[in-house]
Amino acid sequence: MSNFYTTILGSGAALPTVARHCSAQVLNVNGFRILFDCGENTQTQLRVYHQKMQGLSHICLTHLHGDHFFGLPGLLSSMHLCGRVQPVDVYAPAGIRKAMDVLMDVSGSHITFEINYHELQFAEGMQLLFETDLCRVFAFPLVHSVPTYGYLVEEIPRGGNPARRYAYCTDTAYTDTILPFIEGVNLLCMESTFDKGFASVAQEKLHCTTVMAATMAREAHAKQLLLTHISARFKEPEKLLAEAQEVFAHTQIAADGERYEVCY
Ligand SMILES: [Zn+2]
Ligand SMILES: [Zn+2]
Repeated sequence: MSNFYTTILGSGAALPTVARHCSAQVLNVNGFRILFDCGENTQTQLRVYHQKMQGLSHICLTHLHGDHFFGLPGLLSSMHLCGRVQPVDVYAPAGIRKAMDVLMDVSGSHITFEINYHELQFAEGMQLLFETDLCRVFAFPLVHSVPTYGYLVEEIPRGGNPARRYAYCTDTAYTDTILPFIEGVNLLCMESTFDKGFASVAQEKLHCTTVMAATMAREAHAKQLLLTHISARFKEPEKLLAEAQEVFAHTQIAADGERYEVCY
């Protein structure tokens, strides 16, 4: 059985609903877990889906829009309240430290464990962020209305197997600039805020439609596509799935609480 998979905590876009919370997911790479994005209510979703928060040591935020970030102060505060002593490393676009310092200051919060902020501020290329015995984690710039980074996670293979790779790309406009970074990934988790009828809105707001996300997956030769960041206005995931599958057959739509394997 695969032990490289992501558990979706929130598959919705900016407006959370009962069915789709704001962006967050826990990637498990052979036992090492990384939290990607931390929208409002992430700490509760961690509990609901049996993801131990104190076992998390690395948190990677794509950008500082609220639907990807507003859960972080609450999560870190709860870690403190539960007696955490181990440090946490937070990777996010520049501004994260200032934002957290202000929140902690005005709320009179005091967190005693160490938080290491790693502020990302490069405009092109791909950078290695950290490496463990189990994986390497890279970031690369996306195209959005504020500085935004996608993440690539590559397992360190054991027993002569090829290394599987997972990419997380949200929020972003349709762009070919990231194709070299996600070329041939085993699982591409890509934002798909709108259905194909909203193409001009997606372009204007720097988001993707189903067809745009599927086209990126096809052009990058991804093996599997997982659509996330679904706008609350779309109540029929089957319709979104059908649109994407017309372009890229190996597509799934993320649902909160579900686990998606990074297959060979
Ligand atoms: Zn968003
Ligand atoms: Zn955004």
